[in-house]
Amino acid sequence: MAQAVDVLVIGAGAAGLLCGGMLARRGARVQVLADGQAAPPASAAAAGMLAPLSETLHAQVGHHHEALALGLESLRLWADLATQARVDLRRIGTRLALSAQASAAFLQMARSAGASACPCADGVFVPGEAVIDPRAALRALRRWAQGAGVVLQDPACVVEILSEPGCIVGVRLSDRSTICAQAVVLAPGAWANAALRRAAPVLDTLTPARGCLAEFQTDQEESGPMQRGEGVYLVPQPGGRLLAGASMEFGVASPLPDAGQLDILRERAIALRPDLARVPWSGRAGVRAMSPDWSPLLGPTAREGLFLAAGMGRNGWLLAPIAGQIVSDYVFGDAPSPLHVAFSPDRFAP
Ligand SMILES: Cc1cc2nc3c(=O)[nH]c(=O)nc-3n(C[C@H](O)[C@H](O)[C@H](O)COP(=O)(O)OP(=O)(O)OC[C@H]3O[C@@H](n4cnc5c(N)ncnc54)[C@H](O)[C@@H]3O)c2cc1C
Repeated sequence: MAQAVDVLVIGAGAAGLLCGGMLARRGARVQVLADGQAAPPASAAAAGMLAPLSETLHAQVGHHHEALALGLESLRLWADLATQARVDLRRIGTRLALSAQASAAFLQMARSAGASACPCADGVFVPGEAVIDPRAALRALRRWAQGAGVVLQDPACVVEILSEPGCIVGVRLSDRSTICAQAVVLAPGAWANAALRRAAPVLDTLTPARGCLAEFQTDQEESGPMQRGEGVYLVPQPGGRLLAGASMEFGVASPLPDAGQLDILRERAIALRPDLARVPWSGRAGVRAMSPDWSPLLGPTAREGLFLAAGMGRNGWLLAPIAGQIVSDYVFGDAPSPLHVAFSPDRFAP
């Protein structure tokens, strides 16, 4: 006989775990399914910055103000989440190397967003921004979600979304077993297969974008803030690791790092920190799912009972808590705020 739960979440990256954990904390019976072997989560490859203001340097024109407001709201949620889930969140801030003119524009933008930033020797310092270690955070969030009652099944590859006229009733796995549910949340990162795309055609608007990172292994703990310079950021991680990222390779869905991209990143990192020229390093990569406006798709689809936490883009770790909150509000039938409605998947629906 098929198992039955209230909500099934497909994907156990940052987005899926936050949706699952938040739904379970509100009383839903939740099962999270992941096929981490076939589809490596981008969440494990990320640099770990929670940096909404700094990221505006890469923002897409058009969706800029809402994206910043959403990022700032999610960063506020991280404070509580990190305590609850025992994620080591370090509020080390970001130093941005900017020209005098670019610094003035950035400070003005921060002021109008009500966020804190101040001038410093070579540009701007953003004190509130934070960093997590993504791999350690994934382990902590799995424990947190399971502690809230989530049943986590990995590996479990969803090959069909089951529906009856008008609504979703569950999923079928590659081992032919079925699981019944009143609601299904798709959080598949860049790995939505044909079955998921058929159920939610708006997933076809997402483009994979590989990101390579150069990882330097220094011989002491890095104590400074995050840094951003020309075409590169530097993120200190525990154990003396310093991550230099990241390439944006649109249309590339391979999670293997590219030697040419890594050489470019290494050179840019050395321009910012000349001592790195003598430091041993290696490369890694992950694949993000980018929507046409680079912002996530959060909320209901045209099919009753089917929801998305998809297209998490360059800032999926930052945005995971707000994604979990928005999706659980919709699943429980709570009215979304006007800001949250701006990220509804139907903005791209045909
Ligand atoms: C190099 C790089 C650096 C980054 N740096 C940062 C950063 O500093 N800060 C930040 O906020 N973000 C960063 N990001 C972005 C962030 O990592 C992603 O946006 C985020 O991790 C996406 O999370 P997700 O849960 O949507 O997807 P993923 O982590 O990719 O997880 C998707 C999950 O879905 C599963 N899945 C897919 N299809 C199925 C199926 N049919 N059945 C079962 N399971 C399925 C997969 O196995 C996987 O577990 C970075 C990304 C990259 C690549």
